[in-house]
Amino acid sequence: MGGDPGASWHGASVTDTPVVLVRGGSLVVRDAAGRPAGLVGATGRSRRSASTSNGAPAVVRQADLLLSGGRIVQVGHDDGRGGTLDAPVGATILDASGCLVLPGLVDIHTHLRQPGDEEAETIESGARAAALGGFTAVVAMPNTDPPLDSASAVRDVLSLARGAPVDVHVAGAITVARSGERLAPMAELARLGVRLFTDDGNGVQSAGMMRRAMQYARGLGVTVAQHCEVDSLARGGAMHEGEWSSRLGLPGIPASAEEAMVARDLILAAETGARLHLLHLSTRGSIGLVRDAKRAGVPVTAEAAPHHIALTDASVATYDPLFKVNPPLRTDDDLRAVRDGVADGTVDAVATDHAPHRSETKDLPFDQAPPGMLGLETALAVVLTMMPDLPPARLIEVMSSGPASIAGIDARGGGAHGGTVEVGSAANLCIVDPEASWVVDRTRLASRSTNSPYAGHKLRGRVRHTVLHGEPVVVDGEALR
Ligand SMILES: [Zn+2]
Repeated sequence: MGGDPGASWHGASVTDTPVVLVRGGSLVVRDAAGRPAGLVGATGRSRRSASTSNGAPAVVRQADLLLSGGRIVQVGHDDGRGGTLDAPVGATILDASGCLVLPGLVDIHTHLRQPGDEEAETIESGARAAALGGFTAVVAMPNTDPPLDSASAVRDVLSLARGAPVDVHVAGAITVARSGERLAPMAELARLGVRLFTDDGNGVQSAGMMRRAMQYARGLGVTVAQHCEVDSLARGGAMHEGEWSSRLGLPGIPASAEEAMVARDLILAAETGARLHLLHLSTRGSIGLVRDAKRAGVPVTAEAAPHHIALTDASVATYDPLFKVNPPLRTDDDLRAVRDGVADGTVDAVATDHAPHRSETKDLPFDQAPPGMLGLETALAVVLTMMPDLPPARLIEVMSSGPASIAGIDARGGGAHGGTVEVGSAANLCIVDPEASWVVDRTRLASRSTNSPYAGHKLRGRVRHTVLHGEPVVVDGEALR
């Protein structure tokens, strides 16, 4: 949790990690001076504009990387050799030709279901799904059974996660049993390294309770993350309230159920000065509220789920419960607003809300089925497929550095994620072929559940290798752990 989890986390000294040569991949390089970071050319690969949301220029260039002791120790320079490096004797070679070499992805919204529903997912199966999706760190949500509202529950999950192919961090509950009535022992959990607190699955309904949680969080230097849903507006709803819900005869959840809580919590964050993170925003109104609040200096960050940039409420027309999720799939107009938020920096993180469900519980009539979709193995491909013009540098911000910063697991928070791909950085890498197409096969997912809304669909962008603390954990699309 706090502190670099590198060596001790996996029970092996970092010096035991292999020497790895990542060969032929392309890096996204920033140049603060505004010049092209240069060093492109010998190979004839063209510079691609890849500017970030704040306008910092970046270029993509080809270079080999040498990894050792859990770090990047050498980057090939374009000294007439096109960025190539010689492989030391005995080095493992990862072929990254045609690939982007990104910092390992970070998912700050993962439901691992353990403890409580190990048939749907375990920490082991969920972590494997994450590694296959290019993630090197995830934050597990606390709505397990028992919930993560005590030090012992948090310790149990962290101990089960030892040796997993991704670093597993946890979010703690804001209130005891996530019932909204009494604050959880946040200070005690913060001492264990918990940096994010949420009752996700439920919104904190009481404004007074949320205000108290924020005041407390501010003192502890932690972040409160809200599942924005006003129960009295959403109650009984199964899908977005709009044209499709009336056509299909299904009870609706209005956009206001989300937006009313977004607005309330932005006011409370401005008042208390606490860091507020808004989970899975899904409506044009929510994105607009956050955009205005950021302009006004409110300490807020926001995330969006891949399915809210890929799917709309029209998918529900078949009554297939695979398309039931909370917050629900919204309109085409909402989807465009969420994509704009991802592109312009209003949204700080794309977070999967990976929510496995056993098929016997999910295969129910639409209005009775539980909400939730798988996301870890498809998130990067969904973003690359749905937003092909998103500059690579912005992709890195929303899927690695942004979420790592929110979770407090970047270098500033004493962690090893969300950094840049350069000499000295932790060797947490996602190596993805952005042009490779693949068809999602629900029988081949690492997750114990199969509730992917993309099953049978073709996506573009395939993770080839994932490297955790210098060790390959996914090679050629196959998990090694
Ligand atoms: Zn939620």
